[in-house]
Amino acid sequence: MVRECDWCGDVIGVYEPAVFVAGEAHETSYAAEPELGAAATERYHRSCFTAGGGQPPAADLTTAHPSAP
Ligand SMILES: [Zn+2]
Repeated sequence: MVRECDWCGDVIGVYEPAVFVAGEAHETSYAAEPELGAAATERYHRSCFTAGGGQPPAADLTTAHPSAP
C-alpha cells in the first residue's frame, strides 16, 4: 500500500489525520478507513492538504509521479 503524501512525499502514519481523494476528498485516517486509503488516487497529510488550500501545486504533483507519461 502506498502511504506517501502526494504533496510532501513523507509517509502518512496510520493514526495521522489525512485526506484521501477518491473522486472527492475525505478527511480521515488509515486507522479509521483503511479501505478508502487503499482505494484513494491521492492522499495527503491533513496539514499538507490545508496548506495547499485543497489544491496542491500542480508542479509538485507532476514531480511526485515521475512514471506518468
Ligand atoms: Zn504531507
